[in-house]
Amino acid sequence: MTVINYTNAAVYNHDKQDFVFNQHIVVDEETGKIIEVGSGSATSRSYDRIVDFHGQFVMPGLMNIHTHITDMPTYWWQSGKEKRHPDSREMCTMFAIRNMADAIANGVTYIRNVGAEFDIDIEIKKMQEKGWIKGPKVMTSGRSFSITGGHDSLSSYEVDGVEEVRKGVRQALKNGVDNIKMMVTGGVLKKGETPDEIQFTAPEARVAVCEAHNKGKTAAAHAQGNAGIKEAIAAGFDTIEHAFDIDDEAIAMMKDHGTIIVPTMNAMYAIYNSGRGVVPDWARDKVVLNIRKHFASISKAVQAGIPIAMGTDAGTPFNGFQNESAYELQLYVEKAGMTTAQAIDTATINSAKAMHVDQEYGRIAAGNYADFIVTTKNPIKDIKVLQGDKDVYQNGQRVHAQTTAEQVIGSRVSEKIRAIF
Ligand SMILES: [Zn+2]
Repeated sequence: MTVINYTNAAVYNHDKQDFVFNQHIVVDEETGKIIEVGSGSATSRSYDRIVDFHGQFVMPGLMNIHTHITDMPTYWWQSGKEKRHPDSREMCTMFAIRNMADAIANGVTYIRNVGAEFDIDIEIKKMQEKGWIKGPKVMTSGRSFSITGGHDSLSSYEVDGVEEVRKGVRQALKNGVDNIKMMVTGGVLKKGETPDEIQFTAPEARVAVCEAHNKGKTAAAHAQGNAGIKEAIAAGFDTIEHAFDIDDEAIAMMKDHGTIIVPTMNAMYAIYNSGRGVVPDWARDKVVLNIRKHFASISKAVQAGIPIAMGTDAGTPFNGFQNESAYELQLYVEKAGMTTAQAIDTATINSAKAMHVDQEYGRIAAGNYADFIVTTKNPIKDIKVLQGDKDVYQNGQRVHAQTTAEQVIGSRVSEKIRAIF
């Protein structure tokens, strides 16, 4: 066993909402876990090597809990149209492998994928675990669930009625998914529907959650309009994705149920800023109509103390797997009123809690996996630091070093989606 003692580090501490200086982190490379974190450089344990982290800021790796690894965001503007047929299994697999590599190179060490063509994320997860491909750890949902002709029905399981939902969810669980994703309302990137439209009925939503929870799995609801959000909260979904229109009643319900929100603000922002003439008008019009309401809704949830976990909807137009996760945090600070520490928490401890992996992820703490990112500037002082160069460690191994070509390309992607309002 090789034990590394990283010394002199500034380490992010969730309880203090800040970095604590002059810390050491002792990592066992064999288990990939942190075995000790503390002040100063002295440790009672023996170690094989010392790495001096003087002047470096260490925080947990980013955890993006709303991704679509089988979608390639550039493909949208190359095709320039609504997709009429799903991409092939081979293309989706290639997209997934590329997206996985981009994600880890940009500091994303864990993702929850919430809708994958052909259940490809289940196989991608296995490949990542075996070390055959680079990428973050993956929590899978396989294909999502939609009503017949509903949101994302092209690549989802189409199910109608309580018994079809029950059968479908049980089949997905049999296939090995970690999470169930259900399209409770309409959405943006589908013609002929609106975010306010309720698609699954309350009993259909409820049975999906019950079947998932019965097997100890989580359930995520795509829910945008107000009534659909409330239906999803009442059904018991662990996370509400997007949440365009939260009111006081929804907030009270979320507090009751312990519901977590996954905002995916960059999905809207990227189409708003870059989508004109590329993303179909019927889709961009829905973004223009809803974006201010959406951002106000997330701000209201932040003010009310509803837990927020970071998700970008990566894979949607102009919204990929490079610096977008870090950029999402900037949006939380600038458009949703979070402190920089609150924004960091969304992508670390809150995401870990939403995925039910907070015993081993989301903090720099003994017993946790040594999945962390290292920057030379302080992200608490400026959240944009996270979009710059960083070292990325996974299971105690450095899997990406600062200042590479990928990093430069990554920052260019973010440049394209800068502020307009
Ligand atoms: Zn999505």
